[in-house]
Amino acid sequence: MDDLSELLREQAVYYRTHAGEYDLAYEANEELRSLEMLTDGLPIAGDVLELACGTGQWTSLLARRGHRVTAVDGSPEMLSRARKRTAGLAVEFVEADLFAWQPPQQFDTVFFGFWLSHVPPQRFGDFWDLVRRALRPAGQACFVDSGPGDAANEEVLVGQPAPAVLRPLGNGGTRRVVKVFHEPSDLAKALEGIGWSARIWPVGATLIAGSAMPQG
Ligand code: SAM
Repeated sequence: MDDLSELLREQAVYYRTHAGEYDLAYEANEELRSLEMLTDGLPIAGDVLELACGTGQWTSLLARRGHRVTAVDGSPEMLSRARKRTAGLAVEFVEADLFAWQPPQQFDTVFFGFWLSHVPPQRFGDFWDLVRRALRPAGQACFVDSGPGDAANEEVLVGQPAPAVLRPLGNGGTRRVVKVFHEPSDLAKALEGIGWSARIWPVGATLIAGSAMPQG
């Protein structure tokens, strides 16, 4: 296994181990108290594919707004929490590795919360190709994520195969995860370079949100 694949494996293991503690971040972080507010300005419409749904914080919001949601995550522990959170709502869950998965159909919106920052630069183009394949004509990608202001809250590592941080676990251990703190205008330029038209803005001190659609 090469160094990048090993880092991505460690990232997946981190989230599997961390699933039971994950929602604490939503209680502790002021900026995450109103997910409704964080989606202001995002053109979320129609059938939604949600990538890396985690414990279903966004899944539940989207489904309660009346969207039919297909939600993908690699962690069975995360998915079981998301299933409980969305019981009775129109959600289909898929367990899959997003670095290998292919969308079986197209959607009006592809949404991802706190996932793009975990995609290493080496996989950026492939990831956005996946998003493009998953979108119906005129569909849009929408996302919320950490921005550069969030780096101060992380233990940033050097000398890794991709930008990475070290995360503590409740059991005293630590794991590395990929973390790219995208600056809105640089991210918009990078997306333009691979054929997307994007609008990305800062939200509060530590977050970013944005939407993107394929050009032409
Ligand atoms: N979107 C949710 C949210 O905002 O609360 C969860 C985001 S969490 C930061 C990242 C999620 O990515 C975790 O649920 C983790 O299980 C998932 N994940 C990590 N590596 C993955 C992979 N290779 N394929 C699919 N999901 C993965």
